[in-house]
Amino acid sequence: MSKALSAPAASLAPIPVRDILPWLVFGGLFCLLAIYFVGAEQGATALLPGHFMHELVHDGRHLLAFPCH
Ligand SMILES: [Zn+2]
Repeated sequence: MSKALSAPAASLAPIPVRDILPWLVFGGLFCLLAIYFVGAEQGATALLPGHFMHELVHDGRHLLAFPCH
């Protein structure tokens, strides 16, 4: 009484590049913004006043070897 059950093969439809492109652009811009805040958000290039953003990403800055102080 051993019948092998075979599930029907799932057919995966390819995702068109046109559908992925906006998400790729969004992800790329988000990554660039994250790199900016970690690597350059201080001093003369700071967009936000104060030291909040610098202190928030300070450990990440040292972890990624960005010059800090
Ligand atoms: Zn530092």
